[in-house]
Amino acid sequence: MPHPILRIAVPSPLRRLFDYRLPLDATHPPRPGQRYRVPFGRGSTVGILVELSDTTEVPEGKLKPAEAQLDNEPLLGPEELKLAAWAADYYRHPPGEVYAAALPVALRQGKGAEVKPLLRWRLSEAGQALDVATLKRAPRQQALLRLLAGEEKGLGAERIDAVQEKWRPSMKGLVEKGWVEVVEGSCLPQPPSERDQPPGLHDEQQAAVAALAAAEGFAPFLLDGVTGSGKTEVYLQAMARVLAAGRQVLVLVPEIGLTPQLLERFRRRLGLPIAVLHSGLAEGERLCAWQAASSGEAPVVIGTRSAVFTPMRDLGLIILDEEHDASFKQQEGFRYSARDVALVRARNLGIPVLLGSATPSLESLNNVRAGRYTELRLRERAGGARPPSIQLIDLRHQRIEEGLTAAMRSAMDKHLQAGGQVLLFLNRRGFSPTLFCHDCGWVSHCQRCDVNMTFHAGERRLRCHHCGTERPVPPQCPDCGSVDLRPLGQGTERIEQALREHFPDRRILRIDRDATRRKGSMEGLLAEAVSGQAEILIGTQMLAKGHHFPCVTLVGILDADQGLFSADFRATERMAQQILQVAGRAGRAERPGTVLIQTHQPEHPLLQTLILHGYPAFAEAALAERADASLPPYSHLALLRAEGPGPDAPRAFLSAAYALAESLGSHGVMLLGPVPAPMERRAGRHRAQLLLQAQSRAALQRLLSAWAPALEGLKEGRKVRWSLDVDPVEMY
Ligand code: ADP
Ligand code: ZN
Ligand code: ZN
Repeated sequence: MPHPILRIAVPSPLRRLFDYRLPLDATHPPRPGQRYRVPFGRGSTVGILVELSDTTEVPEGKLKPAEAQLDNEPLLGPEELKLAAWAADYYRHPPGEVYAAALPVALRQGKGAEVKPLLRWRLSEAGQALDVATLKRAPRQQALLRLLAGEEKGLGAERIDAVQEKWRPSMKGLVEKGWVEVVEGSCLPQPPSERDQPPGLHDEQQAAVAALAAAEGFAPFLLDGVTGSGKTEVYLQAMARVLAAGRQVLVLVPEIGLTPQLLERFRRRLGLPIAVLHSGLAEGERLCAWQAASSGEAPVVIGTRSAVFTPMRDLGLIILDEEHDASFKQQEGFRYSARDVALVRARNLGIPVLLGSATPSLESLNNVRAGRYTELRLRERAGGARPPSIQLIDLRHQRIEEGLTAAMRSAMDKHLQAGGQVLLFLNRRGFSPTLFCHDCGWVSHCQRCDVNMTFHAGERRLRCHHCGTERPVPPQCPDCGSVDLRPLGQGTERIEQALREHFPDRRILRIDRDATRRKGSMEGLLAEAVSGQAEILIGTQMLAKGHHFPCVTLVGILDADQGLFSADFRATERMAQQILQVAGRAGRAERPGTVLIQTHQPEHPLLQTLILHGYPAFAEAALAERADASLPPYSHLALLRAEGPGPDAPRAFLSAAYALAESLGSHGVMLLGPVPAPMERRAGRHRAQLLLQAQSRAALQRLLSAWAPALEGLKEGRKVRWSLDVDPVEMY
């Protein structure tokens, strides 16, 4: 039999596979999903075998053999290969990067796929028989023996570290005496031996779990329930069923939602090892988790966005929590939506997929309306907690002191005196978004972007939140030399300072990216916030999601206007979601919560609808606006972005792209642009965009399938960096 041609996905900006011959020393038959080291350009790189072919367009003499077969068995199975093929096609992205998304970085680089087992320490028989009390003169060894007692499977270093520092010499002594034995175990952290018992489900939860249990084949569900209504309990019980049948579950959460508390809750309830995948892992941890998922050793995989591509041996259910969250969409490189990929994966596998949210995306609500998803509703808060009351504070004609109206301050006084905790939300970190000169009007503009640099008072620095440029605060105005430089507008740092003056006796805690970076640990700050030790919390969206603050009785949203004035058509949807997410932090326990929202637009119809009638009514009205304007989900978009050192090259490229689309016959697709991006200059580069809008997804995809590869050939493209974003979420 002639050797087949290997069609390999190689990391490259080109939208195609590359053909190679089988390496001469290959020891195993070629199978899609194996990695190969291949010659590429002047060097070599690692690619994934996608398919075998009998023919190639590469001329006979030019077809090179791959350098090495890196895997005996495929790392990606047929299901993962099919998913990646779909994603490369749908998002029109170079396949090399798409297939690589299913592998941890170490494997993309060609490292071996073996993982080191972790060591565990456990009592030997002699150790179990020992009377620990007799070891009084070796307190450290005594403590270790006590720690290991009852841990049948032994403990890993991670758990022992948490209890004793520098424990290894003492442990070594115990091993030498024959009281402790070392075993090689899984590299996954094992669950605690004690399990939490599930609560009895209330009726709506039971109905949801029953609907999931009754589902056959591919079945998408939207679990729509306010924060605290018990969605996570529904997840846990739905998972338990699937796990009991010996199948795996994949849980996807937003970046900010993957907290130690959440993992602890899952581990304690399920009593199973959980593989965790997120961007902050060390290489070894990631490889371990990936392997545990793909071998089936981990029954449960919890991860952020990119975990949606993780190979799994026998996936029986996908859950996606906070499905409206924008972090499920990758905004650079391979711009996929993990939510949409999850749906396709579930459809390919013929399994249920559960999307959960207190504030579902308009897309998903529209899918419910169209009969594509089944809606499951939890209307009440679990455990009898009452919903918060939401009121608006009109900012117009008011004296506002450092971002706080008198009404907000007096409400804070009232709640603090009653022993409640107050949470203030402002999605702007730093002291003020601008510094300006009172004498000549100079402003702290970023020289590389069309935005102002944020003033960080604590560090006396100006920092651009878009390109990262920073410099010390000038002692004088760079234009006129005046020393009267003043902050303009409010950030969390400024509010914190004002709060310290207003409430000198209260414990105030700021939680934002700056505070967590400086103090090193988000967890420490959160613990202080959750325990109620801190009386006033001020923070950005870090505070708004996922965490339970049982002592909070008042939530103040200091500025709801950002979302009402934005040019982005999704801004009002995001504002409503954010308001409710923040509001959901209040009154989770027995105490009812109050939410106060400061705005200059108290009569804004969508804001009114949200406050008076709740999110479902808001969503209804917002969907009607989208329908009128023919915006998603009533149309489908793709955005071609280009950037270059000056304004001309991006415009020239986009104009050529426009002409190309017309020549291909863009039936059913409107081409809008080219126009400068909303923030035209960013990090020193000029940006422009061309928007494609179509009534039907098929029409859009038809054009894209011919257009995207042809764009690679445009000579105007050599002077710019360009990218294609199918179903864009951010419009800049
Ligand atoms: P969500 O995920 O919707 O925010 P959770 O599942 O976290 O809600 O539930 C909120 C709180 O209520 C948790 O402390 C949870 O343990 C508790 N809880 C959920 N369901 C029940 C129930 N049926 N009975 C008692 N407590 C419940
Ligand atoms: Zn000046
Ligand atoms: Zn900048």
